[in-house]
Amino acid sequence: MSLPTYERDPYARELAVEVRPGGGEGEPAAWLADTVLYPGGGGQPADRGWLAGVEVVGVEPGPQGFLHRLAAPVPPGPARLALDWPRRYDHMQQHTAQHLLTALAAERFGWPTTAFHLGPELSDIELDRPEIAPADLAALEEAAMAEVRAGRRVAARRVAREEAARLAVRSRRLPAGLTGDLRLVEIEGIDLATCGGTHLASTAEIESLKLLGTEPMRGGTRLFWIAGGRVRARLARLEERVGALRRLFDSGEPELLAVAERKLADLAAAERLARRLGGRLADFEAERLAAAPGPLLDLHLESPPPGGPAALAERAVAGRPEALAFVTAAAADGLVFALAAGSTVALDLAALGAEVARVLGGRGGGSGRRYQGKAPAATHRAAALDLAGRAIAG
Ligand SMILES: [Zn+2]
Repeated sequence: MSLPTYERDPYARELAVEVRPGGGEGEPAAWLADTVLYPGGGGQPADRGWLAGVEVVGVEPGPQGFLHRLAAPVPPGPARLALDWPRRYDHMQQHTAQHLLTALAAERFGWPTTAFHLGPELSDIELDRPEIAPADLAALEEAAMAEVRAGRRVAARRVAREEAARLAVRSRRLPAGLTGDLRLVEIEGIDLATCGGTHLASTAEIESLKLLGTEPMRGGTRLFWIAGGRVRARLARLEERVGALRRLFDSGEPELLAVAERKLADLAAAERLARRLGGRLADFEAERLAAAPGPLLDLHLESPPPGGPAALAERAVAGRPEALAFVTAAAADGLVFALAAGSTVALDLAALGAEVARVLGGRGGGSGRRYQGKAPAATHRAAALDLAGRAIAG
């Protein structure tokens, strides 16, 4: 069988094909004898594209060539298969960068690569090495960029298994029982590895490569990086974000962090002051409430006091044994309310509270000398106040 086009020519973007129907009920798919869409593998995701203008959502090799899973059915017959080229070229940049990084990490630093992930944002390789010093990472990045500048030729070929055994092939984990030829990918003068993926023709096309950071991983180290057009795209995104922050803080980029830290410190101080003033205000409200004439002490606040309305009501009646306090406050989701009875008041506060809650259209709970609850709105506050007034007067 001849090689699929994506393997023979990774730069091929289109192909004239003959569509044969495939897939099950409600799963539109087409068998194609050949394809420009890489089916995925070796850490590189499967390609996307369009068959006769219909989106290809998955590709897999099979007995009749390659099964292309589709967003909608495509009739049998001749058709045009197109590759999502910007996405594939990005994958080729990341994948070729991975070969380069893996080769240099192994040969110059003695760190073997145990896994590779090509993510939608970042890529990573897992290195069999518990810790890597920042200076070593900088040296690895510089070594990789020197090979990008050198523009090393990258080429793939198939060789017989016996021949591969004679070559200095950097070993990749191969599926057990695999027979037939091996596909080798060579970065001239740097690396020879087995791989089925798609690669650039030259390391110069990697454009740029930036190591971003590490995290510990099962006794090894996961190294995150980006390559190719992603470097410029990420820089543009970060520039935009920094620009927005500069406008927000009215500051230059070098001072941005210090300005933000100062603003956060100011905010924390303002919050401490607000809590202290809130406490003072609650003291004042409790005193004012306790000084009101008559046995019913009534107060409405625009926001819940520190400790809630029940604490305020209890403080108000502490010095007024004969009084009943009714305190309400506007809250984010309606009204909070509380009743507190002085020590000589002979009222069943649980019963009165339940009645007040019913009049307010809310609910609550309490016993002895205290009741608290919430209501959806202050609409029936006057009626509830009237009820409490009649109770304490009676
Ligand atoms: Zn590869």
